[in-house]
Amino acid sequence: MTHSSAGPGDDGHDALFGLDALDPAPGAPGHGGTGAGRGPDDRPPFRESAAARRLLPVRTIYAEPAAASSARGRQILARFPDAELIEVDSHWRIPGLHGNEGNVERWVRVKGETLVLGERKTLATRPNGRSADWIAPGPSNGCAMACAYCYVPRRKGYANPVTVFTNIDAILAHLARHIARQGRKPEPNQCDDSAWVYDIGENGDCSVDALISDNTADLVRTFRGWPTAKASFATKFVNPDLLALDPRGRTRIRFSVMPAADSRLLDVRTSPVGDRIAAAADFLDAATRSTSTSPPWCCAPAGKKPGPRCSGSWTTSCPAGSNGRRPPR
Ligand code: SF4
Repeated sequence: MTHSSAGPGDDGHDALFGLDALDPAPGAPGHGGTGAGRGPDDRPPFRESAAARRLLPVRTIYAEPAAASSARGRQILARFPDAELIEVDSHWRIPGLHGNEGNVERWVRVKGETLVLGERKTLATRPNGRSADWIAPGPSNGCAMACAYCYVPRRKGYANPVTVFTNIDAILAHLARHIARQGRKPEPNQCDDSAWVYDIGENGDCSVDALISDNTADLVRTFRGWPTAKASFATKFVNPDLLALDPRGRTRIRFSVMPAADSRLLDVRTSPVGDRIAAAADFLDAATRSTSTSPPWCCAPAGKKPGPRCSGSWTTSCPAGSNGRRPPR
């Protein structure tokens, strides 16, 4: 297992995992379907493994009362029975979390040890037109990884752990209405030839969310029943549990890549770039459309070394259902 570096102020104990988790040795923690109980090979899902629990050793859960008492909230609380539950009025601006300047020193540690549960109040889909036609209201906000260039924490204060939105049914109902209103896609565009593409992970990482709850599984399963739409999300995390979700070509995972040396510097807690590229073939076999994309441009001052070299923006798409193990170029 290859680990990425940890950020300043953290001891790096909680780095995420590498590609070896995709093909565990007999007796090792296995892989299976997120939310499916057991995977098709009858092994327990990766998220139940000791390795996954080491990556998310949740000790504190801040929760809105309605979120804590919801079915999804209770599922999450049951997954982390030793965590302290602290009720909060809102998942935004939580005193002691977002308002605690001292949390900057514990930036990465907070991402592993803290969860927030809330209800998404605003259900709105807005146009995009780049990798997706539409930006859907996501099932989470915040991320357990800690990329140096991440824009998600900009308005959050001093911490950015995962906030799970527990009202996934409301999100799915909103999407169903939006998709129905669009009808069939009138003509191909750069997002897709025939389907409206919805980005479901704008402010988080659905692969990591799948270690916490069934929100990602619910979205993937629901999208496979919508013939005019596809789900899509970017990720820097190889979660083998997603392989068992049977997306039937209706979910596109965009593995973010950049030069490996730069990624080791910038992509804190993520899966190594080589693992993400290699995993794309496994996801194609599982009928999950996989693409590779680059994160934002990162430029270093002239003459500085080591510095993140500029990485161009490119996307390679492999056809769904293809077994040609074609690495992205
Ligand atoms: S994976 Fe995405 S959401 Fe998570 S820290 Fe990195 S850039 Fe931010």
